[in-house]
Amino acid sequence: MNRAHREGMADNPAMSIRELTPEQARVRQLAGAVLIDVREAHERAAGMAEGARGAASGELLADPALFLPLPEQEIILLCQSGRRSADAAVALSAAGYADVASVAGGTLAWRAAGLPLVQPELDAGERDFLDRYSRHLLLPQVGEAGQRRLQRSRVLLVGAGGLGAPAAFYLAAAGVGRLRIVDDDVVERSNLHRQIIHTDAGIGTAKVESARARLLALNPHIEVEAIAQRVTSGNVDALMQDVDVVLDGSDNFPLRYLLNDACIKHARPLVYAAIERFNGQVAVFDAGRRRGQVPCYRCLFPEPPPPEFAPNCAEAGVLGVLPGLAGVMQAAEALKLLLDIGQPLAGRLLRFDALGMRFRESGVHPDPDCPVCAPGRAFPGYIDYAAFCAHRG
Ligand SMILES: [Zn+2]
Repeated sequence: MNRAHREGMADNPAMSIRELTPEQARVRQLAGAVLIDVREAHERAAGMAEGARGAASGELLADPALFLPLPEQEIILLCQSGRRSADAAVALSAAGYADVASVAGGTLAWRAAGLPLVQPELDAGERDFLDRYSRHLLLPQVGEAGQRRLQRSRVLLVGAGGLGAPAAFYLAAAGVGRLRIVDDDVVERSNLHRQIIHTDAGIGTAKVESARARLLALNPHIEVEAIAQRVTSGNVDALMQDVDVVLDGSDNFPLRYLLNDACIKHARPLVYAAIERFNGQVAVFDAGRRRGQVPCYRCLFPEPPPPEFAPNCAEAGVLGVLPGLAGVMQAAEALKLLLDIGQPLAGRLLRFDALGMRFRESGVHPDPDCPVCAPGRAFPGYIDYAAFCAHRG
């Protein structure tokens, strides 16, 4: 095929691609043509044409010479139904490959024709990855690259209680590779109506150990760091180390302010939630990375309320499922931040009332005089609210 011919093809690509039936492709393959399966790895894992090489369309087209060093060789592309391989064949032809064909009907037609399929050789870890996250891999917004990104991510979960329990479960299930969970409490019977990560048998054990065991039972391929400490201004900097997202599952105001300030100091997004009785609120505070554009927690609530106006669960009560609702929303926001997809709940406060099942969103603006997140402001140091800390529920 000469250059003029190739250039002509770009004007009318649909006309220019040679399509083969699976039977014709098999004959050509056995005669020496290179057969390439251009589906994603997770699709190929379910079975691919015998003797085919795997190279996802995007990878193949990004650097064809890596897979096909000889531009004159006969190349046959195969995908699931024949569409992607036809598109890839057009692109390869345009890139200078002279003899490219696509299998009409793809692997589905290959299978229907009774031609041989093989399971690609994958080690157990790879097979587990492709099976476990198959429903994520189908989403273009996640895909294999996103799933690998989750695998490399680390989330700090402060609190293994009502909010931390569902959030940690979903983050572990979703394949977030490293969870660092900090909580100094032990499991009590009164926790179990909402803190579903703990079990009756775990009463009296450290919450972080109880949580770790359940999370690894769900997904043994992640790391769970269980830190049985109370978070203070003395250890918060170390806890923030190498963390991508911080999830606030705390149950008291001093800790909430400390986390907010630490997230600004270390430029990390904070996924916040708070619950009481039948009401909850969720937000993302990302002023650490986006100074002056989005607010921090202090922009919204400059100072903690006095303790007598800040009832905790032990005093006020809470519907068992309520922290589940809020914690799952936190997990969703954390995943979006890790994947950098969608619109984070930054600059917005989502409030809900479970009795009416009503959700209300209000805009929250950055405070230009905020003592910690105002643009150009030096970090003022951690403010000690120790007086509040004496009172935990
Ligand atoms: Zn602020």
